[in-house]
Amino acid sequence: MITRRDPDAGLARWAALESTSRGRQHPEPPAGYRSQFQRDRDRIVHSSAFRRLVYKTQVFVNHEGDMYRTRLTHSLEVAQIGRSVAAALALSEPLTEAICLAHDLGHTPFGHVGQDALNDCMREFGGFEHNLQSLRVVDELEDRYAEFRGLNLTFETREGILKHCSPANARRLGELGRRFLHGEQPGLEAQLADLADAIAYSHHDLDDGLRSGLVSIDELRGVALFARHHDEVRARYPELGGRRQVGEIVRRMIGDVVTDLIEETARRLAALPPESIDAVRARPDPVVGFSAATAPLHRELKDFLRARLYQHEHLHATRLGAARILRGLFTAFLDDPERLPAEHGELARQLAAGAGMAGRARAVADYVAGMTDRFAIQEYARLNGVPPAC
Ligand code: MG
Repeated sequence: MITRRDPDAGLARWAALESTSRGRQHPEPPAGYRSQFQRDRDRIVHSSAFRRLVYKTQVFVNHEGDMYRTRLTHSLEVAQIGRSVAAALALSEPLTEAICLAHDLGHTPFGHVGQDALNDCMREFGGFEHNLQSLRVVDELEDRYAEFRGLNLTFETREGILKHCSPANARRLGELGRRFLHGEQPGLEAQLADLADAIAYSHHDLDDGLRSGLVSIDELRGVALFARHHDEVRARYPELGGRRQVGEIVRRMIGDVVTDLIEETARRLAALPPESIDAVRARPDPVVGFSAATAPLHRELKDFLRARLYQHEHLHATRLGAARILRGLFTAFLDDPERLPAEHGELARQLAAGAGMAGRARAVADYVAGMTDRFAIQEYARLNGVPPAC
């Protein structure tokens, strides 16, 4: 006999409660020994798209070094930050974790360069949005359950995965797309997962950027948040240098912004306080957020990384190579869908039967987006009869 704990016990009334969940698209019996949001998280961890994140780029291409973040380690770090904050605010930890682990499932190989290239390829076929693709992965593309397509996740997890959406796609998505048309918000766990992502990538990209040598401590001293913690660490541990000094600075920076996020959000919640998750959803602005003092500091860090790391000239050749590979793969499979593996070829036929060339292009984009960095490099080489290179 399994005694289940009440999954809503101890949560704030404005949290995503399982008792008021909008449920799954295909109703299922209770999850037995797990709560509904724990079941969502577990399905995400067991998905093939999640496993493939290990070989997808965060900033540096996967083969450039084993010490850099990948999409998988990034997703785990986002989940760690998200869970810590959720616990501190009496929000649902398993739901926050599920959203964080799934948020990048739709990412193409080669990070944002790959996404831009695929979006260009798909321009006349409805475009490619990586965030919408994450939803498509969990709703349609994962293929492992007898009774439904996708992972059949709860509305709350799907709501959190879909962070952005164009009006045209929002209209197509019904209830899930509603908030993008009416200026409403998702639940607090979704708002939190979005900021946990931003905190994780900005600090970890900074860490990887320093490790790569593409940015220096001297340059970073122009970023107020970094300079403050750099000074503090230097004053307290004057002998400390190298990676250990960087580690100490970065952990203090993360601790600083996470503490601010918790305190500011708790303050806003106390001032409101919302009656329920639906009251949170009906608000015109997010409730989870940084204080007026910290928001510009975090933005300054993100702006620095965009200008000095993501656009770094030493990554230029890699970016060009990655874009060439994605365009080459897309064109090759669109021109000759017989080259697709059987399952994807079948999907291309099904989608083409309903939407013609746009349907075929969507199936090709699904296949290419699902590739890991190294598989994309190998496939490009195989299709072009040349040795793998990027
Ligand atoms: Mg992310």
